[in-house]
Amino acid sequence: MTDLYAVFGNPIAHSKSPAIHAAFARASNQALIYEARLAAVDGFEQAISDFRTAGGQGANVTVPFKEEAYRLCTRLSDRAARAGAVNTLTFNGNEIFGDNTDGAGLVRDITHNFGYELAGKRVLLLGAGGAARGAIAPLLAGAPASLFIANRSAEKAELLAAAFADIFPVNTGNFAKIAGNSFHLVINATSASLAGESLPLPQGIFAAGSLAYDMMYGKGETPFMALAREQGASCCADGLGMLVEQAAEAFFVWRAVRPPTAAVLANLRAGLHA
Ligand code: NDP
Repeated sequence: MTDLYAVFGNPIAHSKSPAIHAAFARASNQALIYEARLAAVDGFEQAISDFRTAGGQGANVTVPFKEEAYRLCTRLSDRAARAGAVNTLTFNGNEIFGDNTDGAGLVRDITHNFGYELAGKRVLLLGAGGAARGAIAPLLAGAPASLFIANRSAEKAELLAAAFADIFPVNTGNFAKIAGNSFHLVINATSASLAGESLPLPQGIFAAGSLAYDMMYGKGETPFMALAREQGASCCADGLGMLVEQAAEAFFVWRAVRPPTAAVLANLRAGLHA
């Protein structure tokens, strides 16, 4: 029987993951099936159980089930434990192994695809939700000089920083508190761009040569990318590369093969503009 994988979410029809994994499988000569599966909002655990019974070997998990997936696991990777959320499940007999590849995908896109080293850089992370949390440990592994987490509600940024206080001293505050600082890398992990909204960022926060990275992606520039360009960021990126790289990392977790990503990313980009 061909190895079976799927992505679970609600909604899920829009998911690009089946096309990405099919392309990875072709490029790396791996025989597998990867489907998109809709789980009822209160039916995630049952959907995963049914999938395992049907022979599913692994699954990706997206909104709104990443925290529930975390709780379902019998074993977690360090990065999933730190993230408090799981986007990649592997089923081995009775074991459910949970991993989180989102942050690794982000860092791989920044360092490999954009050739942007993290070591010694001043990093600003905007947002304190699930995506921000998953990004912190992989970002810190790149040895930045400093990390500042800014969020609309400053208390959430503080709570997040406290969870990493054992490995790195993180500065926190609301957006106004950023004023007077400048950064080499600014990552938007808020969902403001999804709503077409811009962020009230102070002037002067983009250092010379800085990269502004929006985790959101779409056709053309996001509101955050437009603002960053106007305020002097040297390079602006959206999160399509992160999407492809987190998938490649999940593929590696399951298959122990690292698929090539450049052509897949280029095809997805072309599809967005079609
Ligand atoms: P969450 O709902 O967990 O967190 C949302 C965050 O955005 C919170 O920090 C919230 O602040 C902030 N926020 C929401 N609206 C606004 C606004 N209008 N102004 C300022 N701040 C706002 O979302 P996620 O962390 O799961 O996702 C965040 C983004 O990352 C989304 O755009 C998502 O699409 C993207 N993403 C991209 C991935 C990729 O592969 N490219 C993977 C995962 C996520 P507060 O705490 O004050 O409410």
